[in-house]
Amino acid sequence: MRKQIAAANWKMNLTLQQAETLMDELFATPLELSENQEAVFGVPFPYLISIKNKLAGKKNVYVAAQNCYDKKSGAYTGEVSAEMLNSIGTDYVIIGHSERREYFNESHAMLAAKVNICIENGLKPIFCCGEPLAIREAGTESSFVEMQLKESLFHLSAEQLTGFVIAYEPIWAIGTGKTASNEQAQEMHAHIRKVLSDQYGVVVADSISILYGGSVKANNAADIFSQPDVDGGLVGGASLLAADFTAIINSLK
Ligand code: PEP
Repeated sequence: MRKQIAAANWKMNLTLQQAETLMDELFATPLELSENQEAVFGVPFPYLISIKNKLAGKKNVYVAAQNCYDKKSGAYTGEVSAEMLNSIGTDYVIIGHSERREYFNESHAMLAAKVNICIENGLKPIFCCGEPLAIREAGTESSFVEMQLKESLFHLSAEQLTGFVIAYEPIWAIGTGKTASNEQAQEMHAHIRKVLSDQYGVVVADSISILYGGSVKANNAADIFSQPDVDGGLVGGASLLAADFTAIINSLK
């Protein structure tokens, strides 16, 4: 059974003190995660160790970095390597968020290299894809997302993709309060699974968790997550509020 995941993406928000308070609030009542459910906290680099420590001894909860560099090591001032992230116990890395693609010019080839270096270092990528508004309005979102998957993931082996995590995040829904409808989300998630199945077979495609991202809130998460090909969410704004993110975790199926 593929994993159902509620993943927080704090982005560049919160001081360490605020982050620790948020985690204390979140865990004031133990989260009820079943065997196939996970909560993942995508936190800023400087907080990874501290938040990882807060999760010690708790079941099915993990930390994610929000990025890593695509080179092994060396003279890259200010960058953080996959090996470093692994050495501090990071579990997941968010790769190819639309904000990184847009503001930091991350190309398909660079994202493919980041996926590789994560896997080589025992880190699990959460690979983001999703179309901008103009592509959705032109009705070409299916081929656009397919191209993103092909360019950055299709060099991987079936073994490497088994149990992989993808987040579909339509850019027009990120931070806008505009959520894709249940039908729009299910349609694209089913398309992504079909593209994966055509390339790698149904067993691999069925093992991949496809999260939805884009204005997931406490009051719409259960509806979106109930769609058959939606395996949880990647959550920005609502993951900064303990009660809301707890409700989102509790909406996993
Ligand atoms: C995100 O940052 O990946 C995201 C989906 O943000 P929000 O939930 O705020 O739309």
